[in-house]
Amino acid sequence: MTSLRRALVSGALAFAAASFAVHAHAQGYPNKPITLVVPAAAGGPTDTVARLMAESMGKTLGQSVIVDNTGGAGGTIGMARVARAAPDGYTIAVWHIAQATAPALYPDLKYDVVNDFDSIGRITDVPMTLVSKNALPSKNVTEFFAWLRAEKAKATYGHAGIGSASHLCALMLLKDVGFQVEGVGYRGTGPAMNDLLAGQFDFMCDQTTNTTGHIKDGKIRGYAVTTKSKVSSVPDLPTLDSTVLPGFEVSAWHAMWAPKGLPKEATDKLVAALQAALKDPKVIERFAGLGTVPVDQSLAQPAPLKSYLEAEVKRWGEVIKAAGVKGN
Ligand code: ASP
Repeated sequence: MTSLRRALVSGALAFAAASFAVHAHAQGYPNKPITLVVPAAAGGPTDTVARLMAESMGKTLGQSVIVDNTGGAGGTIGMARVARAAPDGYTIAVWHIAQATAPALYPDLKYDVVNDFDSIGRITDVPMTLVSKNALPSKNVTEFFAWLRAEKAKATYGHAGIGSASHLCALMLLKDVGFQVEGVGYRGTGPAMNDLLAGQFDFMCDQTTNTTGHIKDGKIRGYAVTTKSKVSSVPDLPTLDSTVLPGFEVSAWHAMWAPKGLPKEATDKLVAALQAALKDPKVIERFAGLGTVPVDQSLAQPAPLKSYLEAEVKRWGEVIKAAGVKGN
């Protein structure tokens, strides 16, 4: 190749690369896959909700939304990662009520749960269930509590780390019973469920998105739901409120966040894709089978999520303090 030809070829290549870059930029957000961090293990309730969002939102956005499970320390490892990520719309998170409990339970938390994130919107509010391994002698909720009172500290329960929904639910339940029991922490209730199925610990309080199928298949025993009303996916289960623990109510709300400072274009597109996912018939059908429904569209937006989170941080901070619960 002569030096003139070489110069022409490299000039043409440089021009092509530059125009590709301009074109890619002009295409706007999103022009590459999006990472959706789930701060809990794969196969658990948050993972289930997040994967349904990822699939549906990916279609609306025209890009893959890839779920990345970063579990551990009640979700604080994954959320710290999101807080530190570039606010470009290519790293987002789905997490739950534990975002509101973390400040009260983790004094060394390296991020501010409200101010280090941009809210995208709420997703769903998932009821929880009290379940046990099949080998327990109790056959209903009254018998379960009689067993628990007799067993006391010998009983064992599983949870997804300090401040996770499964941990809080069990703590509140045990507080009402009047004693605490040593819990076994996992990176999410996906792996905890595997150990419950194998009979490695006695009981767990977990979301219907993780327990419904196993209760129906008779692989674990379901005793009661934690909401004030019964849940259609597990119609045989009474509420804790109407049976052994009057006034008891816990459920796990899920929502979507991004690192603080997202460009408006990315926020608008993510909110629109989230709202479309919550209207997606496939999502609605899967949610129904798991005992939940999408939130109203008016809540799947940034401002209502931010104010809800602020209120929840305050509410749970007071509950945790009053209960004398300590994190790390
Ligand atoms: N549901 C779990 C919890 O107890 C977390 C998860 O694995 O999704 O908070």
